[in-house]
Amino acid sequence: MSTPELPKLSLPSDVNYIGVFLTFGCNLNCSYCINDPGQAGGRDAMGRTEMAPELWVRALNRLRLPPDLPITLQGGEPTLYGRGLGLGGLLANVDASFDLLTNLALPPGRMKRCLDGQVDKLRRDAPYPSIRVSYHPPEMDRVWGRGIDTLLDRCEALRDLGFRVGPDKRSSDVGIYMVAHPGNLGACEDAARAAAKRVAFETKEFLGLHEGVLHGTYKYPFSIDLVAGGHWPTGLSCQCRTTELLIDPLGFVWPCHHFLYETWMNGGSGEAFDRLSARDFAVDEESLAGLALRPVGHILDPAFTLAALRDWHPCDRYGRCIGCDTKVKNNRFQSLEDAGLAHTSVEIRDIVFPESVLERIPAERSERLRSYGIIAAHTLNA
Ligand code: SF4
Ligand code: SF4
Repeated sequence: MSTPELPKLSLPSDVNYIGVFLTFGCNLNCSYCINDPGQAGGRDAMGRTEMAPELWVRALNRLRLPPDLPITLQGGEPTLYGRGLGLGGLLANVDASFDLLTNLALPPGRMKRCLDGQVDKLRRDAPYPSIRVSYHPPEMDRVWGRGIDTLLDRCEALRDLGFRVGPDKRSSDVGIYMVAHPGNLGACEDAARAAAKRVAFETKEFLGLHEGVLHGTYKYPFSIDLVAGGHWPTGLSCQCRTTELLIDPLGFVWPCHHFLYETWMNGGSGEAFDRLSARDFAVDEESLAGLALRPVGHILDPAFTLAALRDWHPCDRYGRCIGCDTKVKNNRFQSLEDAGLAHTSVEIRDIVFPESVLERIPAERSERLRSYGIIAAHTLNA
């Protein structure tokens, strides 16, 4: 019996990023891991549970996407999906273009088998590379010797598969990105020198606390350092909604990176997935039992709609948010000039601050945030 086609999913116009976390498996063990921004040692618990390629094909072919919006494959290390052989079939059978966030775990021969000839799906005209390679010293030095040299060689080997590789990010399909960690700025300069004239290279702002200092620019005060920085012992209540479609390795859709990573560092969504797969993924309260945090839905649920991403939902974890969700971003869908406020991946309103924290926000800023409804009119009595 053939599987019935699922209803198509139309993307709300203000959703501008689609991230598919194919696997949380990874070949590296970086001390600063993007999946565990609090560096709480939770990465090992994330496991390698994955959804079968035929389910991903069914799920992703539901999406009606504008031609300039790729599906970004990420993880963990997405090239390890399906034991390093899963990407080719997925790319071949999904009608979309893709970006890939990778640490190039696979040497050239295995990368060739992994992609299985699917080069065009990973190439598109964009002002930045579609294959964004992350450089992680000192972990790559530990594994490969001088890590940046191996990484550059592996980037250039992608030329043999048909990718454009060069130092100009506008014309290269491949670029190296490195977090400018304040404890490792010398390695940034070293890597930039090594990459010059070979592969597009950029540093990314470090987000978070380092030696008690908060790095990054955030639209919402104390959004990532309220608890970690010792300003208040627990998260605060607020309303939140997202502009991103974030799908975990088992197809659950999450409203932010904190919800996604927390769930996977605390056992994952495997039991809920097993219950759902026995009932054609029709989500109800019972099927989500055991999940401490509530997903937006499941991408294979016939009743799921992407409009749900734009619904405001209550959250009591404000202040434990993850930097990539609340940092100020350049984005073509938003402007500082129009709204007087910067764009972020999530929008937050009605944050109930305790008085003692509120008084540490400069008066002019807190007045402005109140006038936009970001800070609740009342404060927490504590
Ligand atoms: S490569 Fe990425 S996912 Fe893997 S351990 Fe390093 S930061 Fe984490
Ligand atoms: S307030 Fe923070 S933790 Fe809560 S849903 Fe929004 S981004 Fe996630």
